[in-house]
This record gives sequence, structure tokens and C-alpha cells, in this order.
Amino acid sequence: MAEIRFADVAHSYRANPKAPADYALKPLRFAFENGGAYALLGPSGCGKTTLLNIISGLLQPSEGRVWFDGIDVTGLPPAKRNIAQVFQFPVIYDTMTVAENLAFPLRNRGLPKADIEKRVVEVAEMLDLARMLKRRASRLTADEKQKISLGRGLVRDDVAAILFDEPLTVIDPHLKWLLRRKLKEVHARFRHTLVYVTHDQNEALTFAEKVVVMYEGEVVQLGTPQELFERPAHRFVGYFIGSPGMNFLPCRLAGDGILIDGTDVMLGDPWLARARGREGARLELGVRPEFLHVSTAPGPTTLPVAVTRVEDLGNYKLVTARLGPHEIKAKLDEDAPVPTATAHLALAPQHTLLYADGRLVG
Ligand code: ADP
Ligand code: MG
Repeated sequence: MAEIRFADVAHSYRANPKAPADYALKPLRFAFENGGAYALLGPSGCGKTTLLNIISGLLQPSEGRVWFDGIDVTGLPPAKRNIAQVFQFPVIYDTMTVAENLAFPLRNRGLPKADIEKRVVEVAEMLDLARMLKRRASRLTADEKQKISLGRGLVRDDVAAILFDEPLTVIDPHLKWLLRRKLKEVHARFRHTLVYVTHDQNEALTFAEKVVVMYEGEVVQLGTPQELFERPAHRFVGYFIGSPGMNFLPCRLAGDGILIDGTDVMLGDPWLARARGREGARLELGVRPEFLHVSTAPGPTTLPVAVTRVEDLGNYKLVTARLGPHEIKAKLDEDAPVPTATAHLALAPQHTLLYADGRLVG
């Protein structure tokens, strides 16, 4: 188990990178703490696999250093790094049996035979593979093969970290849920440093203690699921996490208020202070649908909206409304009165955040 630290690690797949757009990873400076369970979350192409391959040593970063527990491993090949990596698609030996496949990483390290057998049985039981240990891997389904890949990632208990690169892509939804729970159990028991890559927010939020959100080659936020929900550091996090995502309303500073499409909202001094000095930037107020409610009369922080749609989604109502050119979504309690065609949506100041050029201010 190790702490994995990035000191200005950046990577470009191009020979002579110049502009930021030439980089698959822009300079990163953060750490995965020893023993933590992390999800690495971001859309396809944002650099997740590139980062994992830099950790495991399959890829040398074009800039910066990687440290494991204070030791610089940037130049070390994968075999010297003691990392288990599970890929998106099964990587197993078809000609070997399930047991031989699971034993392979241990045999490679010269473990005594009895220890290997014990550990293989343990992992097989954990992943519900025990009854097929003697079968040849070539005869298994895609699901079963991927379970073996997971087992190979979990079989060693002396690794610095285990990296999972969207490992459940080929697995059916129900089994996915079970395996995710298993991985959580394994983490609670062995406390390996776990990095689990996914582009699915639900997977990330249920699995991880901390989530690293990536966007266009950048880590835009590292935080607990609650922090990502309550204080998105970047508009991408606001929009990507939550269902539906955060509302972003373009605004500008005007006198003692903040103006959204002609409506003055009086959020108070802290917001004005944040907005001052940022006049040159693209300013937006960010508010989650959960933190908007319908007010019976206009007030200092209400927005006059035209309600375009009300959907009853069981335990809440989803309201879609327009303020000038902007669409706003609000989630109301199931027993809240249905808003009429024109309504006043109230912002709660403590849940209203200011963004300048997409980044949280203050
Ligand atoms: P993710 O895993 O988040 O989908 P990747 O790390 O695979 O993203 O890719 C990040 C960016 O780098 C993408 O724009 C991708 O096209 C590019 N890329 C990935 N691998 C290579 C490669 N071997 N050669 C050139 N470009 C690559
Ligand atoms: Mg990938």
C-alpha cells in the first residue's frame, strides 16, 4: 500500500507539444492517500487511462515526477512498481484453467505452493468462481472472464495499489452491483490504495470515499461525494454530478445586486464581494435543482419564471422553467403544490454559488 503523489505530471502523446490542447494530461499536483478508495471520474477522452498507465509505469509522463511513499518511481518499469491493474476488457490466458490464471501473479513472485492455493481459493470464493476453478478459461463467458481479471488484480495482498480501469463495462447490471459491493468489502478488509476509473457518476459515488473528477486532461476537483454535490469547484462538476445537474445562470454585477436576465437578486455582501473584481470574467450563479423552491410571492432572492413542464417522478416533482433565454430545473418535494404557469423560484443564498469562467469563486 502506498501514497501516490504527482508532482506536476503532464503528458502529451505528441512529439513537440506546445499549446495546452496538445496535452492529454495538463500539469497535475495531488496525491492518492495511502489506503484510500478513490474513483477517477470523467467523460471519455479526459485522460483517465493515461493517468492510470502513468501510475503503473506502462507510460512515462512527458513532464513531472511520480512518487510512491516519498520514493521517486518515475523511471521505474511496471515490474518494479508493485501495482495490480485491471483493464476494461479481460486479460487472461485462455489455455490455462481458472485456478492457474488466478495463481499466475503469485507464481510469478515465487510464493510457496500452499500459500498460493490458499489465496486462490479465497479470491475464487469472494468472486463466486470457486466451482469453476478447474475449468479452462477459454470456455467461459465474457462476464466470467472479467471476474477472473478482477481476481488476478485482487490476489496479491502485497501490492502498492490496485487500479481498475472501467472494469465492469462488460458485466451485466445486476452482477455489476454485486461486484462493486465486493470491491468495497475487499477494500474495507485489506485497505489497499484503490483507484477505480469510471465515467458513471453513480458508480463513482457509491464506490468511493473520495472522487477525483477529471475534465479535458485536468483534475478539476478531488473531494468526498458530499463536497462535489455541495460545492462543485468547477462548472463541469456541477453539471456532471447530480441528476439533473446544477443550474448555471449567467449574471452580472449591478449596483448592490446581481442581475440575472434583468432580475435583480439580493444575495448579500459576500456575493457582491466575490463578484467585484471579476467583472471581466464570464460570471454565473450555480444552484442545484434540490435547493430551489417555489415561493408564493416575489422576494429579494426570487426569480420570476415561466413554468414549462412539471413531471411527477415518484418521490419528487421535477419542474422545468424559463427565465428569459435560460432554462432552470427545480426538484420539489412530492407533496409541494404544483406551481402555476408563472411562478417565483427562490434561491437559498447559502446554496447559491458564484462561478467565474467556470470556476468557483470564494
Ligand atoms: P479516457 O481513459 O479518459 O477515455 P485516455 O487517457 O484514453 O482517456 O485519452 C486521453 C486523450 O489522449 C484522448 O484525447 C485520446 O484520444 C488521447 N490518447 C490516448 N491514448 C493515445 C495514444 N496511444 N496515442 C495518441 N493519443 C492517445
Ligand atoms: Mg479509458
